[in-house]
Amino acid sequence: MCLYIRIVFHVRMQQDYCVFCERVIKEKDGFFIYEDDTTIAFMDHAPVEAGHVLIAPKKHYVNVFDIDDEVFLNIQMIAKIMASAVLKATYADGINIGQNNGPCANQRVMHYHIHVIPRFCGSNLNWERKALSEMEMKEISRRISEAFSELV
Ligand SMILES: [Zn+2]
Repeated sequence: MCLYIRIVFHVRMQQDYCVFCERVIKEKDGFFIYEDDTTIAFMDHAPVEAGHVLIAPKKHYVNVFDIDDEVFLNIQMIAKIMASAVLKATYADGINIGQNNGPCANQRVMHYHIHVIPRFCGSNLNWERKALSEMEMKEISRRISEAFSELV
């Protein structure tokens, strides 16, 4: 079995329920920034920093090894704009754009997604999750949505 098939098979066997497909995309549970025919952007419910956005395809792809090329490219373009929107909305000093492929690469949700994370000079560059209140999440998502809509 080739490496690609082994990875996809391994990942699919690990998770039948997809939180992005079921909760985020189907039930619209979350704070949303952007949506088009193929892609959705929303706030990470356990952000590394306030303003941590996830961008994902609406259709289920596990990771970079099986995602459709056109959908992949659309997500990259949205990530580019989102980086500027998050930078502006959070007054960050820099932005991480990250994407994990496979459990051993720290992929936790087996539905392709990109992280857009604001970073601040002097703060630790770690991946510890923060707990934001509903009101804080609402406010930061409003500011990012506003900044994003000014850029598109
Ligand atoms: Zn999914």
